Amino acid sequence: MADVALHDYLDALPKVDLHCHLLGTVRPATFAELARRERLDLPAPAQEVFAGINSRPPDPELYRHTRIPMPQGRSDDEPEVSYSLFQVSNWIREVLRDGDDLTRIVYEAFEDAHRLSNTRHLEFSFDMVPGHLASLGYTGTVEAYAEGIRMAERDFGMTGRMLAAIDRSGTGEQALEWIRTVVANPHPYVAGIGLDNLETAGPPERFAEAYALAGQAGLKRTAHTSEHVPAAQNAITCLDVLGCDRLDHGYFVLEDDAVVARMRDEGIAFTVASTTSRRSWRPWRRASIRAMLDAGLNLVPASDDPGLFPTTLGREYRILADQVGVSREELTAMALAGVDACWLPEDEKARVRARFESEIAELRR
Ligand SMILES: [Zn+2]
Repeated sequence: MADVALHDYLDALPKVDLHCHLLGTVRPATFAELARRERLDLPAPAQEVFAGINSRPPDPELYRHTRIPMPQGRSDDEPEVSYSLFQVSNWIREVLRDGDDLTRIVYEAFEDAHRLSNTRHLEFSFDMVPGHLASLGYTGTVEAYAEGIRMAERDFGMTGRMLAAIDRSGTGEQALEWIRTVVANPHPYVAGIGLDNLETAGPPERFAEAYALAGQAGLKRTAHTSEHVPAAQNAITCLDVLGCDRLDHGYFVLEDDAVVARMRDEGIAFTVASTTSRRSWRPWRRASIRAMLDAGLNLVPASDDPGLFPTTLGREYRILADQVGVSREELTAMALAGVDACWLPEDEKARVRARFESEIAELRR
């Protein structure tokens, strides 16, 4: 049963979101408007498309022996007609015409985070510049995003940073080329790099060179890991070969007690998301989050693709309270852990942390 007082507390709790994909934050209404403008043919109205996102799972055989059983088959809430997350992301990419569109979607991501979740600091990832926006180039694209962050700083008192994401379905050489571009054009708001897309399509070690280059340039590093492949070892590779500072998802670290112990001892932060999964897998995700907490791991709730699924960071906190049995104290600690794991400069981070602590003390009175 929902605890209203706890929900009120969680809504008022200041939060940071360290894991969301810019294209995944786009509002259905914004996408519908841009799709009309660009005369993009959609198989259904935009709202319906977003409500029907449910990517197909990789080979079920992979998950035969996982410690937390992976539900197979359909769940009760599966949509009649479904659309893959990657297909919808491509449609969103297609309807973005210019720098103003890019600034707009960044600004709206921050506006929603501020209004719906009381998020104070947001780090989003972006991928390679789509071909039809080539005239903007890398620097024009990043500057358009930065303008959206500056507007959010001014209007909502938030802070923000960006991550350049490597698409792991590409080759190591493509990733290296992309990170060369990022490193050659440093921007104060591009704090680091990430690695996303289906883990079955690209093992982390493929991107060692790109990560090494980013590290030499002083960029922070994270990667989606142990999300689709039931191998805890990928998380170790992300730390030891890629030099990651934090990790995204990581549920399958539970497959190996030694890996769990190391992650706990080193206090590695995992950004976790309970909703942005194939629907039938959500119970598995939530059970995994519970087990990771019980094992003493350092978890930071994240929204991941809040426009597409849809969810909000605030809703993720409520789900953890209502369905994962996470206590008020644990959730408060997770909000502060998010500050500690963020990629603001140390002095700015200390200011955010002090503000969070005083607001939390006030909330408790
Ligand atoms: Zn993600």
